[in-house]
Parts: sequence; structure tokens; C-alpha cells
Amino acid sequence: MKFLKSWMRHGRRKKLARCVSTWSPLATAFNTRPTTRPMFDSLRERTGLFNKPELTSFEGFYTMKEQAIASTDRLIEEATSNPTRPMIEIFDELSDTLCKVADLAEFVRIAHPQSHFASAAEDACISVSGVVEKLNTHKGLYEALRDSVKNGTSGDQHLAELFLFDFEQSGIQLAEERRRRVVSLNDLILQTGQRFMAGAAKPRRVPRSIVPSNVRQFFSSEGDDIIVSGVYAECGEAAAREAAYKLYLAPDQHQDNLLTTTLDARHQMASICGFQCYADRAIKASTMETSSNVRQFLDILSDNLHDRAKMDFDAMLKMKKQETPYQDRLMCWDTPYFTHKAKTQLLNVANSDFSPYFSLGGCMEGLNMLCEELYGISLKSEEMLPGESWSPDVYKLAVVHESEGLLGYIYCDLYERPGKPHQDCHFTIQGGKQLPDGSYQNPIVVVMLSLGGGHRGGPALLSAGGVDNLFHELGHALHSMLGRPPHQHVAGTRCATDLAEVPSVLMEYFASSPQVIRRFARHFQTREPMPEDMLHRLCASKYLFGASEMQLQVFYSALDQHYHGPNASFGGRTTDVLKQVQKQYYGLPYVENTAWQHRFSHLIGYGAKYYSYLISRGIAWSVWHKYFEKDPLSRSAGDKLRQGLLRYGGARPPKMLLREYLDEEITPNKLATALAEELDYHKDQLDTVFRMLDK
Ligand SMILES: [Zn+2]
Repeated sequence: MKFLKSWMRHGRRKKLARCVSTWSPLATAFNTRPTTRPMFDSLRERTGLFNKPELTSFEGFYTMKEQAIASTDRLIEEATSNPTRPMIEIFDELSDTLCKVADLAEFVRIAHPQSHFASAAEDACISVSGVVEKLNTHKGLYEALRDSVKNGTSGDQHLAELFLFDFEQSGIQLAEERRRRVVSLNDLILQTGQRFMAGAAKPRRVPRSIVPSNVRQFFSSEGDDIIVSGVYAECGEAAAREAAYKLYLAPDQHQDNLLTTTLDARHQMASICGFQCYADRAIKASTMETSSNVRQFLDILSDNLHDRAKMDFDAMLKMKKQETPYQDRLMCWDTPYFTHKAKTQLLNVANSDFSPYFSLGGCMEGLNMLCEELYGISLKSEEMLPGESWSPDVYKLAVVHESEGLLGYIYCDLYERPGKPHQDCHFTIQGGKQLPDGSYQNPIVVVMLSLGGGHRGGPALLSAGGVDNLFHELGHALHSMLGRPPHQHVAGTRCATDLAEVPSVLMEYFASSPQVIRRFARHFQTREPMPEDMLHRLCASKYLFGASEMQLQVFYSALDQHYHGPNASFGGRTTDVLKQVQKQYYGLPYVENTAWQHRFSHLIGYGAKYYSYLISRGIAWSVWHKYFEKDPLSRSAGDKLRQGLLRYGGARPPKMLLREYLDEEITPNKLATALAEELDYHKDQLDTVFRMLDK
């Protein structure tokens, strides 16, 4: 009841305000895809990529690399000969020098459409990682840091420990023979891990004859073979989903060997470094601190989810029986399809009917509104200088605080183009850092999406999921912009993995709040606000079958923990472990003769940290519930979020940081409970919408 009341009150007020509104300059800029203007550009002075004068041509990477190497030598010299400033200052400068080249080069390698730029960047990446490798094994440097910690001359203790831990990952503290063993295990892990990841996404080629004839038309074929390139999760034909699932996930001995070798090497390496298991090593500097805390969190959450997920599965089974009355069991290949179907039914219109309300410019206006209300900062679209950008359709945003002035720059590379990775992500190009002369080095980041459209036909229109992704990535960017830590080594998103997703997941809650969406969702042609009925269906639909989806994430996380845990089972028994974990944590049965783990590349990339998203979400919900749920646009809550959390990045131990900001101890139990509360909250929201529809 309270829910309905507040929505009507706000609805009326905002509607009045909107009658007179027009698109802001920011929205207008983002509703037009930028192109090159050669005539005009030729009259202006050229700069380099990211406004760095060195990078007017690709050769600048060689200069930057040489300069970084020279500075590194100078800083090592300083650190190892009784320095006069705190050791941490030297280390952070060292880290800044290398990151500024490595992060920039890594981004350009991936994103620059011109091959000579991309390959010069790749070359710089390789050189810098060689330098980093040397530093990691530099005994003199390690001892200088270790001794400074002992003597109390290191400066910031937390940061010093993080640097020490980085060193110790390479086994530098060990006797020579054991250290060499760690280095060679690291090499092995890197190689087998990369090969596993490459194999995980490979399409499967099978003889035509083994694919049931009634579903062959769903797959592409080459000669006598059929190519299965995924699990066809949202395909409407149950038999095709089943066939794809079984064929794509059939066991692959080669993948199993690579996985087993990697897990085995990780376990050995962790043992040599004094850890009980690899997971403990991976989780050490995080919010959860130990793998036993993570397991406890997953177990409690799993209990919390059991009945809630079962309700989802029962509802899906009911849908399945209506579609195919002769099938009476819900299987793993059914859930994405029925979740999608139920959402479409609830929305009552095609997803494409929502898009006109989410023009890119309109969404950016929404983000700007949020930034102004919460933090007193505005996003200002700035014109790019000739040579500053890697592609003509990139936008540049200056982030400006009402009293502090410029906080940093966000480059928005949002449109798809040939050769660009089809991935939504956030890159740090330069971390924030206090400089010796008293000024602050502002952060520079890139937000990357792959939107279509935005040409003469009109602005890019985002799907509901696209809006979530844009808000999510901007959440990462704002973490960097709003942080002011003295050291770039821990600036913004360079914090514990299970803390890093908190600002971005929190932004998804904003993107799902009727009070927030109502402020910016307007039809790009008529400028009419999104109808209230549509708005509530949309917000509720985002969390439909949320419990079963979360249970799947718990299962994945638990598997990752088991493979990297103290009782890790190796030697080709990875499928047995999967079966056992699935039985314990997931509501749907294992399908015989499949080996889903052979396709789970995150086992390598996250390595015992796949759980991080769930922890971040539990924290984000606690933050939302405590400070924003009642009034999502509260300035005092925004300021508190900035001053109490975002400002620090990773500059303080995450558990302590959260304890002070949330004013309570963060325990596995608290976070597992928070996630159950989140599900119930969204379930109530759904029920309200269902009741509304019944009337
Ligand atoms: Zn993220």
C-alpha cells in the first residue's frame, strides 16, 4: 500500500516538472553519434591519444616505454639506498609510472582500430610486463620494503602490506629452490590457463548423424558436420535446447587435462607459499578474508535460497507443462528460456517498445541528474581535440564537482565497430594520486559498451538490460572519479575484488527504482514520460525468478571454491566434484554425460573469486536498504556514500571500511541474510504489480 501511495504522489509532481522540459546539451550530444570533421579539425592544433602529447603517433609508445624504464631504474636506486621519504611513496610512484604505460597500452591494444597503434601498444605491454616480472623478483627491493615496515619508515601500513603481499605471490620470501618452483608454477598456470580459456568458448563440431533430425535445422552445418556454438538457452524449441545443451557441454578430455593441470599447479603454489589452499591465497586481502568465510556465506545463502528457488522452478515447470504437456521435468536447459518468456509476458509488450524511452542521450541525462542530486557533480560533454580519440564516435565527459572543480575524465566508447570486443567494461587509464607538488593527478577512465544505431536514423536506443549495463559501468567509472585516495595503487576500482562491484551493482538498483527512472525515461520523439504502468512492470520484471538465478550463481561460486579449496579433487575427477556440488547447491539435477566445467572460463579468470559478485551484491543491497531505499536521490546519503566508502577505493582494509560506513560488522551471515531480504523485497514488488494487473 505504501508503495502505491508514494508512487502516485511523486508521479504527479514529476509530471508537472516534465511538461516544460527539453533535452539538455548533454542529452543532445549523446543522441548524436559523433563523426570526424576534417575541415574544421585541420585548423586546430593536434594532440595525442588521451590528450597525451607523446601519443600523436604510435611511435610515442616507444618513447613512453623508454621513459618508464628509466624512471623505474631511478626509483629502484632510491628505494634501495636509504631513502629520505617514506618507502610507500617511492613504491606508489613506481607503480604509477608502470601502470600509466601498461594500462593505457592494454586499452589501446584492445580498442584501437589502427593496427600500427595496436601493435605498438602490444609491444609496450610486453615490455612493461617484463619490467614488472623483474621487479617482482627483485630481492633488494623486497628487502628494502620489508625492512621499512619493520623499522616503521614505510608510511601507510595497509598499503605497505599490500605491496609486500604482491611480492610474496611470486615466492620472493622463500629459499631459492622453492622460489624457482613458484616461478615455474606461475608460468605453467599462465600457459595452461590461457589454453583452457581459449578452448572453453570453441564451438563443437559433431557428425550430422548424431543430431536428432527434428532439430537439425536449428544449427548451422559445414559439410557432413553440425556446428554447435552455444547452449541455445533462449530457443523456443525444447528439443533443440536439450540437444544443444548435451552436445555443447559433452565432456572434453583435452579441456579436462588443462583444467586439472591448472588447479593442481595453483594448489601446489599456494602450499609452497604457506597457504592451506589456493582459495585462501586468492581471498586474503578481500572483504571475506578467508575461504572458510566464503564457504560459510555460500552455505547460509544456499539454505536461504532453497525454498525460494523451488517456487521459481515450480512456476517454470507449470509453464513448461503448458507448452509441452508430455514433459514433466524442468531441466537445466529450460531456465533461461522460461525466465525470458515470463519476463516478456509480464512486460506485456516487446522489449523493443521500451527502447524509445531509453535513448542514449536520455539515459546520460538520467545519470547526470543522479550525479547532481547525490554528489553535486555534473557530467559535461567536452569536445575532443584532433588526435585525442582512437575512434571518431567516442565521447569525452568532464566530471565536475560544484565546489571542488574538475574530478577527472570519462571517455565513453559506446558504439560497436568492426574488430572492437563485444563486451561491456570499464578501463582505468590513469589512477588518482596525490602528487609531491601538492596537486592531485585526476583519474582518467574509459567506459566501453557495444551499442548499435546512433547514425542518421536517430539516437541509439537502449534495451532495459542495456540501461542496467550502462549504469553498472558508469558505477565503476564514478568509483574512480569520486575517490581521492593519496595513492593510485589503491585508487577507485583497484580495491578488493569482492568490494569492487559494490558501486556498480548499487547503480543497477538506481536503474531499477521507479523514482529514478521516472525522472529520465522519456520517449525520444514525443518526449512523453514512460507510462506509469509500463514503468512498474519494467522495474518488477528485472527481478523475476531472481531466487533461481541467484541459486545458480551460488552453485557456480561453490564449484569454484571446491576446485580451489583444501579438499580439491584433481586427477580427472572434476566431473565427480561438479555432480556433488550441483546436488548440494542447485535445485535442478546434473545431466549425465555433460561436463559444464569444461566451458566455465571464469574458473581461470576469477580463480576462487567468482563469489565476489554475490558478496558485492549483498553489500550493495545493505547500502541501498540502509541509505537509499526510501529516498534514492538524497544528497546526504550520496555525500555519506562518497565520504564513507567511494572516496577510499582500496586505501583501507575493506572489512574495516564497511564496518564504519554501515555502522555494523560485516559477517558472512549478515550478507547472506541481506541477499534473502533483497529477493523478498523484489518479490513483494512483483506481487504488487501482479495485483495491479489483476484489477
Ligand atoms: Zn562490474
